[in-house]
Amino acid sequence: MRLFLRGFAGYEQARVGRVFNHRRPDRYPAAVLLAESADDVADGVRLAAERGWPVSVRSGGHSWAAWSVRDDALLIDLEGLNSLAYDEESGIAVAGPAVRGGRELAPFLAERGRAFPGGHCPTVGIGGFLLQGGQGWNSRSKGWACESVVAVDVVTASGERLRCDASQNSDLYWAARGAGPGFPAIVTAFHLQTYPAYPHLWHDTWSFSLDDGEALLSWMHELLPKLDRRVEPVIAATRLPGVPLDEGVAHPGTVLLLHTTAMVSSPEEADELLRVFDSCPVPKIGHVRGETSLAQEGDAQEEQSPEGHRYAVDCTWTDAPAERLAPPLLRLWRELDTTHSFSIWYGWAPTRPLPDMAFSVEGNVYIATYVVYEDPADDERYRTWVHERTAAIAADGGAGVYLGDTDFTGRQDRFLSDANYRRLEEIRAARDPDGRFVSYLAADPARLNVHG
Ligand SMILES: Cc1cc2nc3c(=O)[nH]c(=O)nc-3n(C[C@H](O)[C@H](O)[C@H](O)COP(=O)(O)OP(=O)(O)OC[C@H]3O[C@@H](n4cnc5c(N)ncnc54)[C@H](O)[C@@H]3O)c2cc1C
Repeated sequence: MRLFLRGFAGYEQARVGRVFNHRRPDRYPAAVLLAESADDVADGVRLAAERGWPVSVRSGGHSWAAWSVRDDALLIDLEGLNSLAYDEESGIAVAGPAVRGGRELAPFLAERGRAFPGGHCPTVGIGGFLLQGGQGWNSRSKGWACESVVAVDVVTASGERLRCDASQNSDLYWAARGAGPGFPAIVTAFHLQTYPAYPHLWHDTWSFSLDDGEALLSWMHELLPKLDRRVEPVIAATRLPGVPLDEGVAHPGTVLLLHTTAMVSSPEEADELLRVFDSCPVPKIGHVRGETSLAQEGDAQEEQSPEGHRYAVDCTWTDAPAERLAPPLLRLWRELDTTHSFSIWYGWAPTRPLPDMAFSVEGNVYIATYVVYEDPADDERYRTWVHERTAAIAADGGAGVYLGDTDFTGRQDRFLSDANYRRLEEIRAARDPDGRFVSYLAADPARLNVHG
């Protein structure tokens, strides 16, 4: 293990070098510990207790709000905990928290004919992703990624190492599936139920004009409840140049890309599932359908969300019907103004009660907006814009947020049901009575998980 104290060489790189969002926070931990093993993590927690430091954690560094960087804390960076193992008999993979879902876990499993509903962005760490729920490939069919976590190995606030699953330390197992940065322990390994890999991934990508946005939303809201759960429909308002456009169509600046994917057994099955989009009554300005791969889709994600940029992000679940959602959403989409900025409508349409776990807030449609820019002088303007526009959408039919795309220093909303939030608070009080772990980062901690 290596320890970087504030004010000493290597500290600044250890503080923010692995933070994806280049809008780096003005928060300064007392020290950063680069852990190589679960024992290092336990030693780190004990060291923090001796020095009176709170503890924050980093796995993949992709939290938009840089939750890992906290004033006067010991930041335990788990980059070194990135091992992968697979047991053929049970189909269970054991993965370190810093394993990157698309870059490492997916190819490792693919070589073994297996798959896991990992995140859309290939470089996201599974640590933060799984703890907050995990919206991954094929999630409409396989559920939240955390539903496929069968156990976690953790280090507790007293530095003890525990296995947590349905039969032992089940309170922590419950919390590990949805508490996100409020989880009162440090996960050193995830035990993941994997699935047989589908032989084919298909995409169906239609381009539409922003002027037809209302008609498109109306049609998609009508279709959504009938859509097969193997199909994942996203409408992305994007300004990237490389979108499908029919011959002779000039790029209009912002395009509405209806991008759907489906994991299937055969091209015929893809055709059968995706045929429904051929009857879309809204005039298209471009279209491509065909086989794709997780690697190709990951590359497209990285092109849309490039490294080395500043990000201002917000999201909301909404149950509003299309005619009420369209005005505030189209206003937001029309105002997108950098090449990489984008905003998604994701048709989630939950049809089953969630299992008993901390994760507990979802809605019919997920709206998330990502402002991508480079000049620090734009921080204030873009942050204000994304939170105000998202609040306007949430004001009518908003059901809460998904932790993964939030920044509670800018806008707060509910992320757990009231009952689950209370239960999590009880678990936190029992497992971390001295508040060793820093928990949620919010402008107003007294209004955490308050809706509306
Ligand atoms: C480009 C990009 C694309 C994304 N795409 C998706 C997506 O498709 N689906 C989706 O669901 N989310 C997505 N996200 C959101 C992402 O999943 C969350 O930001 C997640 O928290 C990142 O995990 P991390 O380990 O990389 O981040 P980190 O910043 O390292 O971790 C975030 C926080 O989680 C907690 N944490 C992390 N690991 C541990 C641990 N081992 N033990 C205890 N606490 C821990 C800590 O509080 C930590 O500060 C995306 C983010 C980015 C930047």
